[in-house]
Amino acid sequence: MARSNIRSRLGLRPIINVSGTMTALGASIVVPEAVRAVSETLPEWVEINDLHRKASKAIAKATGAEAGFVTASASAGITLALAGCMTGPDLAKIEQLPDTTGMKNEVVIQMGHMTGYGAPIEQAVRLAGGVCVPVGNVTDARSYQLAHKITEKTAAALYVVSHHTVQYGQIPLEEFARVAHDKGVPVVADLASEYDLKGFHAAGADIVIYSGHKFLGGPTAGIVAGRKPLVRATFLQNSGIGRGMKVGKESIAGTIAALEAWEKRDHAGVRKLETSYLDLWVKRLSGLPGVTATIIPDPTNNPLDRLMLQVNAEEARITAWELADQLAAGEPPVIVRDHEAEQGFFQMDPCNLHPGEAETVADRVVHELSEARKRNRPQQYSYTERKARRFERLLRWPD
Ligand SMILES: *Cc1c(COP(=O)(O)O)cnc(C)c1O
Repeated sequence: MARSNIRSRLGLRPIINVSGTMTALGASIVVPEAVRAVSETLPEWVEINDLHRKASKAIAKATGAEAGFVTASASAGITLALAGCMTGPDLAKIEQLPDTTGMKNEVVIQMGHMTGYGAPIEQAVRLAGGVCVPVGNVTDARSYQLAHKITEKTAAALYVVSHHTVQYGQIPLEEFARVAHDKGVPVVADLASEYDLKGFHAAGADIVIYSGHKFLGGPTAGIVAGRKPLVRATFLQNSGIGRGMKVGKESIAGTIAALEAWEKRDHAGVRKLETSYLDLWVKRLSGLPGVTATIIPDPTNNPLDRLMLQVNAEEARITAWELADQLAAGEPPVIVRDHEAEQGFFQMDPCNLHPGEAETVADRVVHELSEARKRNRPQQYSYTERKARRFERLLRWPD
């Protein structure tokens, strides 16, 4: 699809995203099939619950689940699925939320899964009136601890699969589900950026949640899939707290199209293209003074590799976070995956690049590294200062 000049018309910077599918960067490059479905749906009336019925079928087909529901976001999906576990299909209870008087409202979750994705997951639980009951400690959770925390007040057991969580010492999903099911508690799994749409039901999740706008390349939406009674109870929250998180017809239609496109996508071809970008970056960047370029696998085993660029500040004469900032400040701005930059590296994600952008990214990194060596000042500001500056800027919005 031909690209427009919409960003310059709006006065926005023409960023190149090698960070990943981030909400802060526009979530995704929406696939042409979904763009078409969105624009064809917008000017038409539809009976929205019939469109939801069609989406349920499309989600069931793509995930192997009994039913599915499109929400405003994965975060909304977590809140609404948990609400469904508390209320069931009882409309009076649905209208009563987030007051959970007379309902089970505790949600057990491993401490190492109590993460954030721009907002704390714990707040997504509280929005439904739920209360997180942490299991274990950050780096060690055990089945008997989980069993001990499940009581007659437990509404659900929440499991998170993500690079955001602690990556070791956690209870595997199969074992987590076995313990929860022994106590009659449903398992809700947040899989927002996991490519595997089918395996998690087999592993024991009763209801799973994906983002529509990450790897799927759909419009902003969340996808809930699972056992029919639970998905129905989630859908019925549209008459309660879900109203404030409603999804429009265009996102429902766009999500159906994105799921269909995902099934037909040439995944091997996409992988090959991404690998060619990574190879190009390794070729251009390794051997430059003070940096080491390594291809690393995705931490949760998605079929995706990234480039890790380690920066030796003394030798490169710039820190990893300052290099990331220079790349973001330059022309064109390149946004790297820098959430671990305090450890002296950042990553570059090869997904969703437009033709020619991989070369531009390599040129920009080479340029900034050569500028840094001319300046010869290994560090100008600390990671802590950088972090503080970012919050200051956020708090000044809209200025
Ligand atoms: C991105 C993400 C979310 C939030 O997804 P949205 O669809 O943007 O609300 C939730 N959980 C995890 C693990 C994520 O990666």
